[in-house]
Amino acid sequence: MQKIYLDNAATTRLSPEVLYEMMPWLTSEYGNPSSIHTVGRMARVAIEKARKSVAQILCVKPATIVFTSGGTESNNIAIAGTARQGLVKSIITSAAEHHSVLHPVEKSGLPFRLIDIDKWGRPVLKDLEKQLRNNEGTSLVTLMAANNEIGTITDIISVAAICKKHGAIFHTDAVQYIGHYPVNLSEIQVDLASASGHKFHGPIGTGILYVREGVDVTPLIESGGQERNLRSGTENVAGIVGFAKALEIAASDYEIQKKLIGNFREYLKKGISDIFEGVIINEDPVDGGLYSILSVSIPVDDNCAGIAVMLDAKGIAVSAGSACSAGKVSHVTKLLGRETGFETIRFSLSRYNKAKEIVDVLRALEEIGNK
Ligand code: PLP
Repeated sequence: MQKIYLDNAATTRLSPEVLYEMMPWLTSEYGNPSSIHTVGRMARVAIEKARKSVAQILCVKPATIVFTSGGTESNNIAIAGTARQGLVKSIITSAAEHHSVLHPVEKSGLPFRLIDIDKWGRPVLKDLEKQLRNNEGTSLVTLMAANNEIGTITDIISVAAICKKHGAIFHTDAVQYIGHYPVNLSEIQVDLASASGHKFHGPIGTGILYVREGVDVTPLIESGGQERNLRSGTENVAGIVGFAKALEIAASDYEIQKKLIGNFREYLKKGISDIFEGVIINEDPVDGGLYSILSVSIPVDDNCAGIAVMLDAKGIAVSAGSACSAGKVSHVTKLLGRETGFETIRFSLSRYNKAKEIVDVLRALEEIGNK
């Protein structure tokens, strides 16, 4: 059976170059970076080299990069860590955020507000400004750079400017953004930013949290004080080296990938619009969204056509935001008002997809549509 993988927003294939770079740290070079002997010091050097490279790509100082186990942990440290610090009195977020943001916000013990979102799932900045004007004390604003389900992009430069004007701390979950677009964290003036290695062909279980100098965060994990005391525990040397290599590869050809993957997305979008009458493309028709994600809501009679399952049976992996395939309706699908009468499917592409695969997916969808 053919295997076509269009679920790259969930996780991506590990790049062979990344694996090659990681291999010594998984085999022969197994020193603990905190050890004082030569083997340990070599591991420390590898970590600091990786940190320097990541920092350079994101245009910040190496000391501001904290290596973590992924986007979930980075978001938790950013939110629970600033909440515990004491300065922040309330949190502002949106209902379209990932659960790794929403859950720590709900459990922070601080009052929080969900700002309005527009019909494409993006935060309404006027409402953000209004909420910040009304808030007393320092607020933490946490808004994602790009939505993992529908690919809408937030204007984080404007969010950062609004936060700065009102003295708020700004965290962005950039898990679906970093590794796909050039990012200058210094210029954006964001205080905290999360990224995850396995979203851009790095290893699963790796991530970073950028913590701007002067932003106080209380660690959630206590012990040996690794990672600037923000994330104790023996470092995942191979993972850190792999994260840095994956980001280096991504940063070397952002524009080429944007064009290539973006063309596949457009072709897929056009084909799906031709096959399914009344399909809704979940993107702002003017601004578009992430070039790597295409979210479509296909009208169905019984709210459970099982299109994603049928695609799976044909060897095509996609993600579904609807009840029949995923087990429950996703909170973002609900927010868009596509809870009933539609099956929402996310196609997410990567540098490893081929034109023929997109043609095959459309052929498979046509067969399903004809049924
Ligand atoms: N934030 C967003 C927007 C995501 O898409 C994901 C993963 O899908 C995460 C956070 C969690 O990242 P990780 O899988 O690295 O924990």
